[in-house]
Amino acid sequence: MRLSATFKVGNISVAALSDAAAEMPLPKFFNQVPDEDWTTALSIATPDDSVPFNFGSFLLRGSGRTVLLDTGFGEQGPYAAAEGAAGLLDRIRDLGVGLDEIDAVIHTHLHFDHVGWNTVAEGDERVPTFRNAVWRVSEEEISWWNDGAVQPHPDYEHILRDVFDPIVGQGKVETFSGETLVEPFLTSIPTPGHTPGHTSFLLSSAGEHLLLVGDAAHHPEHLIHHDWVPAVDNNPSETTRSRRRIVNLAIEKDAMVTGGHFPILTVGKLSEIDEEISFLEVDIHETDQF
Ligand SMILES: [Zn+2]
Repeated sequence: MRLSATFKVGNISVAALSDAAAEMPLPKFFNQVPDEDWTTALSIATPDDSVPFNFGSFLLRGSGRTVLLDTGFGEQGPYAAAEGAAGLLDRIRDLGVGLDEIDAVIHTHLHFDHVGWNTVAEGDERVPTFRNAVWRVSEEEISWWNDGAVQPHPDYEHILRDVFDPIVGQGKVETFSGETLVEPFLTSIPTPGHTPGHTSFLLSSAGEHLLLVGDAAHHPEHLIHHDWVPAVDNNPSETTRSRRRIVNLAIEKDAMVTGGHFPILTVGKLSEIDEEISFLEVDIHETDQF
């Protein structure tokens, strides 16, 4: 499976970067859907067949800014045997980008597969990996984690103590709420449901748009069938509404659409005819350099 790809959206350079890529069965992402329906949609014979799945981030550069969207599992990821595991930082350096050049880290949400590289070990302590970055997270997501409502999530302690407290302690976290221009080319689109503060982002430049859906969709089929709710979603009715919102926005803007869990490089456009939604892959012109 591919671990990185670079392309342009308007004047912005985009790199899709994997922190681990695994062929794995996906039944928990389609657990409320009759097996026959989703296996047919994914062109597999049985629910236990493996399909490509990515744990990915996006590095964005333009308007004098270098921005990282989500930070993977980090060094303690559970998919050590997966292809390219724990390789996000290497992949960033391979693009010729230094970790200190990253101006902002922006999170779709705070699940463990999206925040892992926020910190690295330095002696007995954990310190921010991207020393010059500010972290941007939605206010709703931070509150959800801080008020303890997320418990008994198995990673609660690890995430707060190891990958979030060291950043909060250095005053590096800024919150946003609603639809906000979080970077000159990036607008937050609230898409709650997977988590209460889950956020997608619309990248816009020179008349082109790329909608980065985060975990509002773990697979393009979740956009085609926005009522297919995975077991990993916190609030089924909210997440269904959020996916409908993504589809509407993507069609309205004629935006390209991708997500961190889509295998690299899966980018498509959505359309709807007679209430049937389609995700048609776009043939992306890849660039050699970031
Ligand atoms: Zn995820």
